[in-house]
Amino acid sequence: LSDRITSAVANLRGRGRLSDAEISASIAEIRRALLDADVALPVVREFTASVREKAAAAELSQVLDPAQQIVKIVHEELTRILGGETRDLHMAKRGPTVIMLAGLQGAGKTTLAGKLGRWMKEQGHSPLLVASDLQRPNAVQQLEIVGKGAGVAVWSPEPGNGVGDPVEVARTGVAHAKEQYYDVVVVDTAGRLGVDAELMQQAADIRDAVQPNEILFVIDAMIGQDAVTTAQAFADGVGFTGVVLSKLDGDARGGAALSVASVTGAPVMFASTGEKVGDFERFHADRMASRILDMGDVMTLIEQAERAFDEEQAAELANKIAGDGDFTLEDFLQQMQQMKQLGSMKKMLGMLPGMGQIREQLENFDEREVDRVEAIVRSMTPAERRNPKLINGSRRSRIARGSGTTVTEINQLMQRFDQAKTMMRSMARGGGGMAGAMAGG
Ligand code: GDP
Ligand code: MG
Repeated sequence: LSDRITSAVANLRGRGRLSDAEISASIAEIRRALLDADVALPVVREFTASVREKAAAAELSQVLDPAQQIVKIVHEELTRILGGETRDLHMAKRGPTVIMLAGLQGAGKTTLAGKLGRWMKEQGHSPLLVASDLQRPNAVQQLEIVGKGAGVAVWSPEPGNGVGDPVEVARTGVAHAKEQYYDVVVVDTAGRLGVDAELMQQAADIRDAVQPNEILFVIDAMIGQDAVTTAQAFADGVGFTGVVLSKLDGDARGGAALSVASVTGAPVMFASTGEKVGDFERFHADRMASRILDMGDVMTLIEQAERAFDEEQAAELANKIAGDGDFTLEDFLQQMQQMKQLGSMKKMLGMLPGMGQIREQLENFDEREVDRVEAIVRSMTPAERRNPKLINGSRRSRIARGSGTTVTEINQLMQRFDQAKTMMRSMARGGGGMAGAMAGG
């Protein structure tokens, strides 16, 4: 998928304007690419139609070139369909919040129960996991182990609280939570290998018995084209308020996410990214869109750059960087301040595709350093700032005294300045890198 989109976009790069034919060609590529990623056909159709419409209607951006503009539209549409801004879990106003998990066998529900429990606990809640999967042998024991690993209590079927009856286990579990002041109850349920009427009925009965605040549909991100039928069956049979994508640590490119969210309209809320209890995160639609587009958070970068940079100033800086070493310590300081504004430098580099080497160079960059750099640069004379070669040993001690730092720190700064200069030049040479983003394409 990513290669296709990348090449579709590469075809467009560096041109002043897009013709209708070019828009059509790139949309055809994107369409093929989405199909390759197992996004369901109706979803692909709807998606490409809306991108086409938006691309045709969009005014030419001052800041983005047309290729970037199409990427931005594709990215925005993907993000919107995936659920936009991550919303918070709906919490009960009174009594325990009940979160019910639903999904096929092997989807990752039981594993998720532990992850969710621990995550809630970290936020100061006191969660209880309820073992309402009595279908699979050892399912109860599995949840007990998961609960232990997560440090979260588990309600298991015992004589008197519904042995053999998952609905009764769920009901007594919630009652127990009320009595014992657990404020969150995560109800694990049974799944089958395929969609099954009896299973759906059982899930619906549990739902009716415990009246969940959230029903999370857990789906294996690798499921492919089956995602739509499975999700639709659960939406009709039980209904759900949110989606959890599991096994996102695999090769899955997120086609399933797009299909499920698009067909059911439910937002993707969490992602499971491994077998361990900590392999869990809130889902970020925009990051998933980037993953589907496989281009780092380029769009985020461009958007931040759009906001944070005065265009003219950026163009001027980019010229300097691209030029023959006219990059001064004043520029360096100014640039660092802008970086700070944009977020940490490391994070920024993480957003740029193919920046591994540079990222490595700046692995130890600490954004709090900006203040110290500022103090040091302020202690230099204007001539020194413009021509750092002037800064010899005795000047270094003077600057160190003036800025309340040490000569070692001055040396480190000079070294970092040199690295930055090299980095900025190589980015400028690469085109479309940070200098490109700063100059607005
Ligand atoms: P359930 O049948 O829906 O309860 O699914 P389980 O929680 O038992 O998970 C089924 C299998 O998938 C187990 O072997 C889990 O360890 C594994 N699993 C669950 N979530 C993830 C995940 O996010 N990544 C990976 N790699 N494996 C997972
Ligand atoms: Mg299970």
